[in-house]
Amino acid sequence: MTLSIPFDNSYARLPEGFYARLEPARVAAPELIAFNSSLAQDLGISGEDDPLLAAIFAGNTLPGGAEPLAQIYAGHQFGGFSPQLGDGRALLLGEVVDRSGTRRDIQLKGSGPTPFSRRGDGRAALGPVLREYVVSEAMHALGVPTTRALAAVRSGEQVYRETVLPGAVLTRVAASHIRVGTFQLFASRQQYDQLQQLFDYTRDRHYPEAETPGALLAAVCARQAELVAQWMSLGFIHGVMNTDNCTLSGETIDYGPCAFMDHYDPNTVYSSIDRYGRYAYQAQADVIVWNMAQLATALVPLVQDQQAAVDEFTTIVNGMPNLIRAAWLRRFGAKLGIADAQAGDAPLIADLLGMMQAGGSDFTNTFRALARGSARDEITDRSAYDLWHARWQERIAAADAPEALMQRSNPGIIPRNHRIEQMIAAALEGDDRPFHHLNAVLARPYEDQPEAEELRRPPAPSEVVQATFCGT
Ligand code: AMP
Ligand code: MG
Repeated sequence: MTLSIPFDNSYARLPEGFYARLEPARVAAPELIAFNSSLAQDLGISGEDDPLLAAIFAGNTLPGGAEPLAQIYAGHQFGGFSPQLGDGRALLLGEVVDRSGTRRDIQLKGSGPTPFSRRGDGRAALGPVLREYVVSEAMHALGVPTTRALAAVRSGEQVYRETVLPGAVLTRVAASHIRVGTFQLFASRQQYDQLQQLFDYTRDRHYPEAETPGALLAAVCARQAELVAQWMSLGFIHGVMNTDNCTLSGETIDYGPCAFMDHYDPNTVYSSIDRYGRYAYQAQADVIVWNMAQLATALVPLVQDQQAAVDEFTTIVNGMPNLIRAAWLRRFGAKLGIADAQAGDAPLIADLLGMMQAGGSDFTNTFRALARGSARDEITDRSAYDLWHARWQERIAAADAPEALMQRSNPGIIPRNHRIEQMIAAALEGDDRPFHHLNAVLARPYEDQPEAEELRRPPAPSEVVQATFCGT
């Protein structure tokens, strides 16, 4: 039994300064936890033999055609510029062109130290690997552009964090791993030839219609505005929106301290390292604009007339809040069964959110209950709800099939933090059943799944997760 991955690598054709070539470090005893065979099929990967899959996706056996490399990038972390980051514990094995014709990266995460590891060990712990697997696949099922999880493997080794933990390797699939920080690297080093090469490569791969840096910037801003509005419509908090975790493709990347909120509070922060709430739920709409301003700054040297570029890019970035507002309105409107939400609908949405915040309503369950006519039970101030309900009913009286729109805009099941913690705790004891169960249920988040009712329940006080950690 062999495994065939139809590699068709392009990043490895870029010049030396874009990466360091090296092979993954072997792990002691690879043991397959999960292989995403439906994603594998999309990628044209065939092979089912467990030991071989474990060896390949642990980095112990290099599949034919792989050209492993660690990508270099820079980035603003919590507002401060780090002039050189890079894949410190990840390796791009190569790319495949999937069934729909899209080029996708296949990357090992936790595959050993690289020249960019700084003080890190290049490894990943089991918990964060399983968290990323579950949440990224859940996001995909929710319809959010995201990196995917192809495989998770126990390494049979220990990693040393606050405690000693079992190690693991995740295989991540992405439209690309080009980040705002990749552009920042070459711009900050004044390596303008490389900057131009990166621009050409990114345009050809993601935005072939964008003829100028301004057109590319506008296209990325549009995708990121849509992405952040979509996160917010699901109660998702990324947690570490540094510019090195912000893709040019518009996919969600880097599931570290991310979390879905339970009760609605726009100031929610879970990440233990986000002390000032820079990446709080509500702040995400502002931070993405800040990140795009950094991309704009990095693109300026590509334009001959720099003042004209600054003017053009400023207009584009300044236009982003409107894009986000429009996307937010459309998505939250849909959650209320309004297909064509207008600015005049904003108070209706805001008033519901206000009641939810005041009474600590569960974000996911309250919206899900709207279509079922049971949202009143989720709101503490019932008389306020009744007044709101009348306004809402009036608004959707003439709507065509609002229930269907609400059903596909309000998931019943999200990966709740306490379930993820419980899943990780079980896996640390060697029981992977909660992991597999979560994956199965989260693959159909918009369907009613009575048998999974328990996963819809908000955490009991004793189960509430106060903080999430990068685990790096
Ligand atoms: P993140 O916060 O996960 O986006 O990571 C920020 C940077 O730290 C990236 O350049 C990572 O490659 C690097 N990094 C994170 N964890 C490790 C680790 N265990 N070993 C080496 N580098 C790491
Ligand atoms: Mg990162």
